[in-house]
Amino acid sequence: MSGTQSPAGSLLASSHNYASDNGNLTRKGHIDQKGSGLIASASIPAGTRILAETPLMRFPIDSRPAPGAILSAYRSLTDAQREAFDSLDFDPPDSEEEQGLNQEELDDYSASEPYILKMMLANYTANQIGGCVCTKISQLNHDCLPNCQIAWNAGIGKVTVHAVRDIAKEEELTISYIDGANMTKDSRQEKLNEWGFQCRCKACADTETGREHDAVRDTLECHQEYIKTQWEKGSAMDVDNCHRNAVEMADLQEENGILTKELADSYHLAAAFSWMLVNPKETLEWAEKQCEREKLCLGDDHPEYKRTVDIIPLIRSAITGYDDFQAARRESDLANLTAVVMKKARPKKCGDWRAKNLVKARWWTRREMEVKEGDEEYEEVEKLERELEFLEERVKKKGGNESDGVTEYRKIEAWLERE
Ligand SMILES: [Zn+2]
Repeated sequence: MSGTQSPAGSLLASSHNYASDNGNLTRKGHIDQKGSGLIASASIPAGTRILAETPLMRFPIDSRPAPGAILSAYRSLTDAQREAFDSLDFDPPDSEEEQGLNQEELDDYSASEPYILKMMLANYTANQIGGCVCTKISQLNHDCLPNCQIAWNAGIGKVTVHAVRDIAKEEELTISYIDGANMTKDSRQEKLNEWGFQCRCKACADTETGREHDAVRDTLECHQEYIKTQWEKGSAMDVDNCHRNAVEMADLQEENGILTKELADSYHLAAAFSWMLVNPKETLEWAEKQCEREKLCLGDDHPEYKRTVDIIPLIRSAITGYDDFQAARRESDLANLTAVVMKKARPKKCGDWRAKNLVKARWWTRREMEVKEGDEEYEEVEKLERELEFLEERVKKKGGNESDGVTEYRKIEAWLERE
């Protein structure tokens, strides 16, 4: 390519998001105690997409690929890609070391040069993050309080790196190799052993600040565990306590500089429990925070962010639906009431929300209108009843708790009585 490259400043002014690589915001440099890493070559505002790369290799995140799979991915690289892969940093294995493989397995894949296979596997192990190996992104070092977020964006088929906060020029760019926001130092290190290094970041340091920070992580770990255990109880869960825990998780993460995607996940939990407590206004506040954080960490072209954006109008409609309903009830405007109830009971998306709205609609209609056979609205109410039965039937078939609908109904009843 000829011509001059745009300076980072003007690129940022035009857009914070672009599907292509923006490598001119980074440079490779020496980092104390870590070897090499990537450094910000300009000041970078929060939410900037710093890198977007098609990975050299990508495997499912939840299981370690077989050596044969890594080898065949390596073989299918172009010459330029292979050169990029080979020049990544890693500690070459001792020639006697087996890298977890026995000689037979090695012979299967590369009878002539088993050492090259070992090198290739050691390279993969050191440089994969979430099952992906990238030319530049794999050069980023880990930090338990990172200033960047790595993510796989299926929408554009690339691995992206976003600034989770404002980053000063010359700061090292770091990501978390693991979802470790709600883990203590020891739990994190156990996971990080996979990469074969001991984390020496601020959060892991054996200093007073480090220990104070670890106490926060311990609380976060407990809260997350509590919510997980409660969640498994289904309709018997203590929603009030789960809500309190989720809100505290979000607050603690914010206060302690944990600004990655996992903060968005805590906002999401707070929103979900607010919704279960039939508080649509608070649900909206948390969902909007989730949206904002996901946009910063993932970019506005990420499918997960787009899903959150789609849910916002549904929450808004739950709020206005309730307000409209109250207004209609005050005015004893029965025709308007029917219209509001019917409209709000049929959002197009989210089966779960739809079921809840149907329960609400059934209750409102029955209670407010005491519809009897022969009444004008009778047919509509019948239709609602049938839809609800159909949904409940499907929930039962999928192994869901059949009392969920009833629990929901009771909650709404209590809520309406309170108003
Ligand atoms: Zn650390």
